[in-house]
Parts: sequence; structure tokens; C-alpha cells
Amino acid sequence: MEKKLEELKTRLLEANDLTMASAVLNWDQTTYMPPGGAAARGRQMATLGRLAHEKFTDPATGKLLDELQPYVETLPYDHDDAALVRVTRRQYEQQTKVPGDLLSAFLEHSAESYQVWAKARPENDFTAVAPYLEKNIDYSRQIANCFPGYDHIADPLIDFADQGMKAESVRALFAELRQELVPLVQRITAQSEADDSCLHQPYPENKQLAFGQKAIEAYGYDFTRGRQDKTHHPFMTKFSWGDVRITTRVKENDLSEALFSTLHESGHAMYEQGVAQIYDGTPLGGGTSAGVHESQSRLWENQVGRSRMFWQHYYPQLQAMFPEQLQGVALDTFYRAINKVQRSLIRTDADEVTYNLHVMIRFDLELDLLEGKLAVHDLPEAWHGRYQHDLGLHAPDDRDGVMQDVHWYAGTVGGVFQGYTLGNIMSALFFNQALRAHPEIPTEITQGQFGTLHRWLKQNIYQHGSKFTANELVEQITGAPLTIKPYMQYLYGKYGELYAL
Ligand code: ZN
Repeated sequence: MEKKLEELKTRLLEANDLTMASAVLNWDQTTYMPPGGAAARGRQMATLGRLAHEKFTDPATGKLLDELQPYVETLPYDHDDAALVRVTRRQYEQQTKVPGDLLSAFLEHSAESYQVWAKARPENDFTAVAPYLEKNIDYSRQIANCFPGYDHIADPLIDFADQGMKAESVRALFAELRQELVPLVQRITAQSEADDSCLHQPYPENKQLAFGQKAIEAYGYDFTRGRQDKTHHPFMTKFSWGDVRITTRVKENDLSEALFSTLHESGHAMYEQGVAQIYDGTPLGGGTSAGVHESQSRLWENQVGRSRMFWQHYYPQLQAMFPEQLQGVALDTFYRAINKVQRSLIRTDADEVTYNLHVMIRFDLELDLLEGKLAVHDLPEAWHGRYQHDLGLHAPDDRDGVMQDVHWYAGTVGGVFQGYTLGNIMSALFFNQALRAHPEIPTEITQGQFGTLHRWLKQNIYQHGSKFTANELVEQITGAPLTIKPYMQYLYGKYGELYAL
């Protein structure tokens, strides 16, 4: 068994090496590659992706998993070997159950659909993308049907990103959340809008970057195992345990852009840096689900980075760095500015309170599309109806309506949006639990110290990598299933104080 386990690990490591090599090429493409490299780069990444897929889905991997099964059945659930075989089998099935022909047809369609969307969106031309979206929904159904036995057609797609979550349970959780959020947004927006003009002054790029780097270094992001560069869309990428990078985007007239994207991506990165080193290069060596990943980026971005505690320590430093811009701006004004709540049309620009409404609208609509309850030609109207109902807004066009996110046009319809809101819900759940275990954390944050919080997260979440599912982590940490209560308490507490509700 020892020998077979070694054989499996070697095979997995080789597949992982190919995937990570492709990730390096992707990072380079979005940061430093000259435009002339684009054509060859696309091909090189496709080649590596294909080789990695072949290596991983080779019948030899399946045979090793079968041979190891009797051995791991004698082990406790949380034993490393048992977890390795369990998680590898899950990924192996995900990658082998979808026929190669279907997968390549879908990927080809996706690439074409993306091109059409990129052109149609600025032109506000929904009729151009509608046939592609219809086909995409059809492909999404076909892929889901490779995993029969589901309760809802979206379940297999949701399960790819957030294992164990189902359309019905997520829908119920979201319905509860919407019931609380819609009136909260109404109460907040009935008041006078916060003044965030202090954020919109000229802020030199080099100083913005320096401040963000200092903050995440204090958080515990390890720069000897990472670095930050600039890109158009900020992201985190991992090449190995020893190399987890982030990117950010700077706007010289908007202080919040680079700062909060840096804090956000550092949360994703600290999760990956905190996975036990022995899992590196195996299917256990990464964050466990989209939702748990987002819970970590949101925790460090919002619960910590947009808190009064954090700025009690950092605001004087920020003022010293930007005396001209911030000398006359009180901490309270700044704190209100970075937590301004407003009804808006664009999901990615939304604040903490309204953000989830955007996500839940998309989640409900994609379930309707997959179920066949909603036809693509009725989608724009359904979109506007929901925005009117939930946010009291009507987009002037489809560009900022149904065409605003790339997701439905370059990937499956279903399976992605729920992770953002699950992450927000879990961020509060985990932060709350860390505070219960260590009531000194808030005081430490006001002193610019994050070690206790970071250690707790590492101990309870990061080190396990993919060993436990999101639901298992939530149960282990809180002793109960996922609930929106701590998240709503957090929002009521923070925004109740800010808006004197
Ligand atoms: Zn994120």
C-alpha cells in the first residue's frame, strides 16, 4: 500500500506541476507579457492544460484509487491518506465523467461566446449574445446531466465549486437573507448619503501601493513566499506552497480601489500560504471551496479592513502619508466614506450591504434559466423586475443589466455566483467564532496586531487545505449548520451605528 500511495502521489505531483506551470504563464500574461506574446501564450497554456488533464485522468490514476480504497476504509475520516484518496477520487470523477467531446465543444463555444460578449456589451446588443447564452445554458444542462441523481439540475454545477451545497438549501438561505437585507437597505438609503469625496482626490500610485503592502505584511501575508504586481483585474494565484502571488489595480483618483483589492486578495493568499506544507502539489493542497475562499478574502477586507478598530491604528499613518489630502478629514468621516452604502447597478462596485442582493438576483435567475422556467428572450425584463423589487433601481440598458458580468457568457450558467454570498455569510461566522475564542482580538486590531486572529484562522481553517468540506468546517468550528445570524448581527451592529438606525 505504501508503494501504491507513493505512486499515486508522484502521478498527482506531475499533473500538478503542469497545471502550476500554466498558472505561471497566465500570471505573466496578465502582468508583464508584451502584446506580441498573446497568440503563442494561448496555445502554450492550452497545451499544458491538456497534458495536465491527460495525466490526471489517466486510467492508471483510477486504478490506483481503486486499489487504495480498501486500505483507506480502515482509516479515520480525517487521516491524511484517507482524505487524499477521497478528495482525489472526487476530482477524478469530476474530470472523467464529462465526455471529452462534450468538454471540448463546450470550451470552444465558451471562448467564442466570450468574444461575442466582449464586443456586444459596449454596444448594448443583447440580441447578439442571446443565441450564445441559449447554447451555453444547453451545455450547462448537458454537463450537469453527466452527474445523474441530483435533486436540482444546478446541483452538480454548484457542487463543483461549493461541495455539499445544493440549489434548494442555498435558495432557502438566500431567501432568509433577502428578507433581512431589502428592508435594511431601504432604511439606510432613506437617510442622507455618506460623503466619500475624501477618497476621490489625487493619490500617487507608489504611496498607495506602499501603504497596502505595509498593511498586508502586518496581516501576516508572507512576502518571502509571495509578491504583488499590477493587473487589470486583481487576483490571487498559487504556483506552490512557497509562491502565492497577488495582483492589484490602482486608480489615482480613488483611494479605495487598490487598498481594498489588496486586502481582499491577501485574504485569499494567506489561506493558500497557510495550508499544511505536506499537502503541497496534491489535491489537498488548496482552499476547500469557492465560498470558504471568499470568506477569507472578505474577512480580511471587510470585517478587519473596513472596521473602525483597524483604522484607529492605521488612519494616523495614512494621514501622515497623504497630509495634503487627509489632514482636515476626521477619522469618522473617513470611516463613513469607506463604508458608504448606496443603491447601485454594478455588482462589483457594490458595498457590503447591497452586494449580496446583486448576487442573489443572479442566482435565482440562473436557476430559472436552467429549469427552463425563464426563456433567454425574457431574461432582460426579468432582470429589470428583480432590480426594481430588490434595489429600487432600473438599469437604463442591458449593458449594465443582464450583460454586466462575464460569468454567463464564458463558463457554465450556474455554479459560480452563490460562492460570493456564501463567503460573506461564512466570513462573519468564522470571525465571530475567532472572537469568542480570543476576546482580545479587537484590542489587538486597534494596535495593528493581527497575529492571534491569523493563527486562529490557520489552525481552524487554513492548515486543513481541502481535507474538509465547507459544511464540515462550519460544523467543526461552530457546532451547528451554516446560518445567516452572525452575518446579519454584524451588518446590523456596524451599519446600525453608522446610520443611527
Ligand atoms: Zn475574492
